[in-house]
Amino acid sequence: MSRHPGLNPPPFETIITGKDENFILFEESYCYPRGGGQPGDTGVIFSEGSRVSMLHEVLPGDMILHPVDDVSKFQIGQKVSCEIDVERRNGNTLMHTSQHIVSAIAEDLWGAETVGNQIGPKQSRVDLYFENKEVFDSDILINEVNTVLSSKINVNIHNWDRKKILGHDQMRHTKFMHRIPESITHLRVVEVEGVDLCPCAGTHASNTNQIPMIKFVGKKNKGKGRIRISYEFD
Ligand SMILES: [Zn+2]
Repeated sequence: MSRHPGLNPPPFETIITGKDENFILFEESYCYPRGGGQPGDTGVIFSEGSRVSMLHEVLPGDMILHPVDDVSKFQIGQKVSCEIDVERRNGNTLMHTSQHIVSAIAEDLWGAETVGNQIGPKQSRVDLYFENKEVFDSDILINEVNTVLSSKINVNIHNWDRKKILGHDQMRHTKFMHRIPESITHLRVVEVEGVDLCPCAGTHASNTNQIPMIKFVGKKNKGKGRIRISYEFD
C-alpha cells in the first residue's frame, strides 16, 4: 500500500507512539495531513473492536498529528485501528486531481500561473495570476478541462530525484523545491499524461475518467493580475 492511496483508503492498524495535549502519534499512518491546499483526512479510531474517538483533521508536522478530543482515552503502546472518512477523502482526491488539470490548462492557454488554491470535497477555488487578466474566459477553460476529464488519461506517480525533476523540460511548479530540506533527495512527481507534470504530495485519482465533469461557479478579482475562480462537480 502506498502511503496515501488516492481513492478508497482502507482501514489500517497501528500502535500509538506518542501523545500531546490534543493529538496522538501513530507508528505508521496512512492519513493525508493537510497541505498544498488539500484538507487533511478525518476518521474514527477503534480499539479492540470498539469505537474510541473521532479523528479530527489530520495535520502535518515532523510526525503526522492525529487530533482527538480526549487523549486520556489512549495509552502509548496501545494497538488501534483507524478508519479514514472515505467519502471526504475521495472528494478531496478527485477535486485535487482536477485542480492539476485546471492549473495546467490555464497555464497552457494564457500563461496564467496558479498562485494559490483551496480544495474542498464539494467546491474548490484556484487563484490564477495573469499578465493581462482580460484574456480569461471561463467557458474555454471549463470546456478544455472537461475534455480531459471525459478522456481516459492515466495519472502516474513517479519518485524522481531532484536533478531529474529540475532538468525535465515539461516540469511545472518547481519554485517551492528550495524550501524542502536537501536531505530529501527524491520527490513524488505526478503526471497527468500529456497534460501536467509536477512535484506534488497530494492524493490523486489514477485515471481522469474517475473524476466527474466540473462546472464554473464564479470568479473574483483578487487584485492586480489575480483572479480567483471557483468550481464544483457537475
Ligand atoms: Zn497533486
